[in-house]
Amino acid sequence: MSETEADEGRAETAGGPPGPGPARRPRIAAAIAAAVLFAAVAAVLALTTPWNPLPGRVPGGHAKADPSLDFTSAEIARSRAFDSAVNPPAYTGLAVGLVLILILGLTPLGSRFIGWVTTRPHRRWLRIIVATVALTTLLRLAGLPFDIWSESVLRRYGLSTQSWPAWLVDQLKSLGVTWVIYTIALLLLYALIRRFPRYWWTGAAAGGFVLVVLVSFIYPVAVEPVFNKFHSLERGPLRSELMAMAQRDGVPVEDVLVADASRRTTSLNAYVSGFGSTRRIVLYDTLLKSPRPRIESIVAHELGHAKRDDVLWGTLVGALGIAGALCLLYLLMTSPRLLRRAGVDPGGADPGGADPDGAGTAGRGGGAADPRSIALLLALVTAGTTLAAPVQNVVSRRIEARADAHALNLTRDPATFVSMQHELSVRNISDLNPDAMEYLLWLTHPSGPDRIAMARDWARMHHVQAPPPLH
Ligand SMILES: [Zn+2]
Repeated sequence: MSETEADEGRAETAGGPPGPGPARRPRIAAAIAAAVLFAAVAAVLALTTPWNPLPGRVPGGHAKADPSLDFTSAEIARSRAFDSAVNPPAYTGLAVGLVLILILGLTPLGSRFIGWVTTRPHRRWLRIIVATVALTTLLRLAGLPFDIWSESVLRRYGLSTQSWPAWLVDQLKSLGVTWVIYTIALLLLYALIRRFPRYWWTGAAAGGFVLVVLVSFIYPVAVEPVFNKFHSLERGPLRSELMAMAQRDGVPVEDVLVADASRRTTSLNAYVSGFGSTRRIVLYDTLLKSPRPRIESIVAHELGHAKRDDVLWGTLVGALGIAGALCLLYLLMTSPRLLRRAGVDPGGADPGGADPDGAGTAGRGGGAADPRSIALLLALVTAGTTLAAPVQNVVSRRIEARADAHALNLTRDPATFVSMQHELSVRNISDLNPDAMEYLLWLTHPSGPDRIAMARDWARMHHVQAPPPLH
């Protein structure tokens, strides 16, 4: 940083609108950086998203998704009943969490709450840790009744196999993971804000980028084992067949792992996580009871993700998005109006904090450096992630459809694909007829009937017998 950093920092932390001249420079630069990074996200998404996952003309036109073709009326009724049972806790939980953090972040309540929980620890880093842990815990507690409600619905429908104590342990573990990730991120961020009051967004954007890549890379070995035990798929015909299929596909796979998902759920799933040396294909142990060709159909889908490096591209987009968001965050967190609204003195004076050197605990970096601004920060982060979710879902559904097309190309067996999708939908009690809001907010995958319709399209395009209705 330049030597004029401190002086410029003072000029800005004096509050009031930044005047023309050098004080505005970092804001303009941050705005340009945010615009460039978001443009890069848009460009990568536009260029790498398979907007047409099944290219080519379908003889006779596209098949329409129609649950009544393949699902019995009892299955459809059960899916509907489950949907109307899980929606209320899902929507109210989302709304309550959002409203709570927005109230805490955009009114003085959040900074007062942080002031209240951090009156004792005098050290700045300790106040950041306490504030982060307290706020994330408060938010989790507010969501807990809705999570219990959801879990009791899963239990009623036989999807959950957990005891309540085991479920609670899961919640605590997940809260622990949140504490670790948020605490590390916020300690680094607030150290940067204090050290470089006017250009912290450069370091934050670079650090955020690196942190997203790092977390995505170590997630399979650092976080997943907190929740599940993994073992290699046992030697035998299934393993040999899957490894041979991967080889045929030209995807180097060293191992197929099995997760002990049955300790928690009866639902079926498989996934790819990590990249490079941490990349793995994981099957839920619940899946292993399915007929072998169906498991192959699922693994062929996962190979599609591996072959296209979907995790790596997703990580890159996430990292660029976070970097852009941190530049935007700088613009918002240094806005005197927003800070005042959040009950934080834009000049950085911190009446609630004990401070041996008497310069205010925030001191350099202005109000943004005050740990009481963490509520505002979390509110902005939550608003950002909520707004980004529908975009992520639209892109994710296309990527999932491409992995389906890959599975069909690899297995050339649309009939088994359809029977597997049917089994997935029935076992997981998936929504067979999602409405627009559900597509927008929740659906990372096309619905079962969407996926089945695409398999029929694929069959007609490749002159393979189209799978007849299952029902
Ligand atoms: Zn997938």
